[in-house]
Amino acid sequence: MKIYKAAIIGLGPSGLAVNKILYGDSVEEIIAFENEDIQNRDNFFGFWLTDWMKPFEHIIEKKWFNWTIGNKNTKIIHTSRDKPYCVISFKKWRNYCLETKNKLEIKNNKVLQYFSEKNYFKIITSDNNEYYAEKIYDSRSTKKKKGELLQHFYGINIIAADNTFNKNKLTLMHFTKEKNLLHFMYILPFSHNTALIESTVFSTKVFKDSWYREKINEYLELKNINIFKEKSFEKGLIPMFFSEEKNSVNPNIFNIGIRGGACKPSTGYAFSFLIKQIQLLKNSKKNSVNIHKFLDRKMDKIFINFLKNNNEDGQSFIKLASNLNGNEFQSFMMGDSNLLTKFKIIKSMPKLPFIKELFK
Ligand SMILES: Cc1cc2nc3c(=O)[nH]c(=O)nc-3n(C[C@H](O)[C@H](O)[C@H](O)COP(=O)(O)OP(=O)(O)OC[C@H]3O[C@@H](n4cnc5c(N)ncnc54)[C@H](O)[C@@H]3O)c2cc1C
Repeated sequence: MKIYKAAIIGLGPSGLAVNKILYGDSVEEIIAFENEDIQNRDNFFGFWLTDWMKPFEHIIEKKWFNWTIGNKNTKIIHTSRDKPYCVISFKKWRNYCLETKNKLEIKNNKVLQYFSEKNYFKIITSDNNEYYAEKIYDSRSTKKKKGELLQHFYGINIIAADNTFNKNKLTLMHFTKEKNLLHFMYILPFSHNTALIESTVFSTKVFKDSWYREKINEYLELKNINIFKEKSFEKGLIPMFFSEEKNSVNPNIFNIGIRGGACKPSTGYAFSFLIKQIQLLKNSKKNSVNIHKFLDRKMDKIFINFLKNNNEDGQSFIKLASNLNGNEFQSFMMGDSNLLTKFKIIKSMPKLPFIKELFK
């Protein structure tokens, strides 16, 4: 009976990070289970360049030192010289994390369950096979929950005419006017003629692909981008609630990624946080680590409840952006803001609804 050093359930960004960061320099034998074909997955993960992301600078696709937040009437421009907005593609992250010294065996199979037996785990897969490992890193997560907000989006990568885009300016959030719905466009201009154009909604229900495509077309028409070629698309769903997965009492079971609470629910940013989580686990003797600080979690919860109970059209985000400079804004988004910035954030929010949410 072969007992692997560790079993990784799911080879999304967090499972991949476990292989690279925790075992990449070792000679251990690791087994990973993934029930989708990760060769087909590709999308961009955005984040601001924090200290803990610096080791991955060489695989960053592009950096932007300026970003905008606004709507038809207002545009706030933020600048940060040392903490730019960056993207890494899933493909690059996957290749980087699979290039290691350790021996990784990948099984393209669904894990049904696992049990603790003596000092190892027995893992059962959907093809009725059994595997054994000393530790479990589990990244399976619940993406939807009744009544809870979701961030859902659909984007297309396009090639347009020369000099269509300003490659130095990223559109982080361009809110459009919708009936009782929070919707914004997210534009990543990779070059003067290529960009990702994405339509994003915060709501409890997900729409058909055609809905987002209509919004993308409306935006492109508005910008007079009528001739373009579509290269690829990405779509997704991010839970806007903290994972309810409890830390396991078994010290050898690690909940990782979104399952392990890496996502900052009010924004849907999870990629850099799940990397921070694995880095922290490397230096910890425990099976869980605090990724988000207590006050940040509290503020996130209040903000999400506010979004759930009010027909927000983007004004709160615009007001927040207008009260902060680029460095303050990125520190808030990356969970690294100081007390003065936190105070400015609270001051930017609509007072009465926030006080109500605080006491709920
Ligand atoms: C298209 C897209 C774009 C995003 N963009 C950003 C961004 O710009 N910035 C940012 O910070 N975050 C972004 N996110 C959010 C977040 O970073 C991602 O959701 C990220 O993939 C979370 O990683 P994870 O490892 O926690 O989970 P997942 O990526 O969901 O990985 C879990 C893996 O487990 C597999 N699996 C599930 N059940 C089983 C089972 N029973 N057996 C075997 N395998 C199983 C799944 O197939 C999956 O591959 C984005 C998400 C999506 C979907």
